Amino acid sequence: MAAKSDFTVRFWGVRGSISCPGHDTVRYGGNTSCLEVRCGDHLIIFDGGTGLREMGKTLAKNEAVNADIFFSHAHLDHIIGIPFFSTIFDPKNTFRLWAGHLLPRHTLHEVMRTMMTSPLFPVPPDIFSKKVSYHDFVAGETLTPFEGATMKTVALNHPNGATGYRLEYAGKVFCYVTDTEHASDGLDENIVDLVRGADIMVYDCTYTPEEYPRYVGWGHSTWDEGGKICQAAGVKTLVIFHHDPGHDDVFMDGLAKTALEKYPNSIVAREGMILDLGE
Ligand SMILES: [Zn+2]
Ligand SMILES: [Zn+2]
Repeated sequence: MAAKSDFTVRFWGVRGSISCPGHDTVRYGGNTSCLEVRCGDHLIIFDGGTGLREMGKTLAKNEAVNADIFFSHAHLDHIIGIPFFSTIFDPKNTFRLWAGHLLPRHTLHEVMRTMMTSPLFPVPPDIFSKKVSYHDFVAGETLTPFEGATMKTVALNHPNGATGYRLEYAGKVFCYVTDTEHASDGLDENIVDLVRGADIMVYDCTYTPEEYPRYVGWGHSTWDEGGKICQAAGVKTLVIFHHDPGHDDVFMDGLAKTALEKYPNSIVAREGMILDLGE
């Protein structure tokens, strides 16, 4: 395979809060957060929203899967795909599940058991592959998912906490920063430091700048704040992400036009979109 496919990001879910399938969201997509990142032979997944189920259907059935899943946090829109991710039940597959916002009060394993418990769900996570492991860390730590990749992390401003990620691989930098709310008095310097010089930053753009004042304290941000961070940190491309489920395709077209006029190096995330960092 050509070297240019060495580092790719595929978007399986681009929504926040709740999935919103329907005829008026088909173009941007209705599934909640899930990204498939390929670094050579390595598979890294960011978040397990409803998009994860679709992704699972594409994974090879015969070859063993060995992957890391990094959760921004454990709100349902980011984990609800896990019990419907058939690949994680297959005993030959290995998954390492990571979260950086739960310690010391909770653990990721405990959160999964809580979600998958009677009478909310018929089977517990114990029936996953025995090769599923849970890794709690504290946002701020630097992780090494595999040799040659570095994952830097930072705590985000979100109710119950969340973690932002910076993945460095093959001389390129991909950042995943959702869910988070910007400060009213300037940029979040933790995020600016995290994403400095990145090739791509996927950012929580749940609200438009006009909508945001009605949702102060809800833990989300806007494309305008994402653009400011990119300018301050020298990020090449902003990916507008975690779309509000109330924003249908027509609304998103208008949002894209306005955002790209101000920040031409932006992309509005759509389900099925693939970005290539290896080019
Ligand atoms: Zn969310
Ligand atoms: Zn959240």
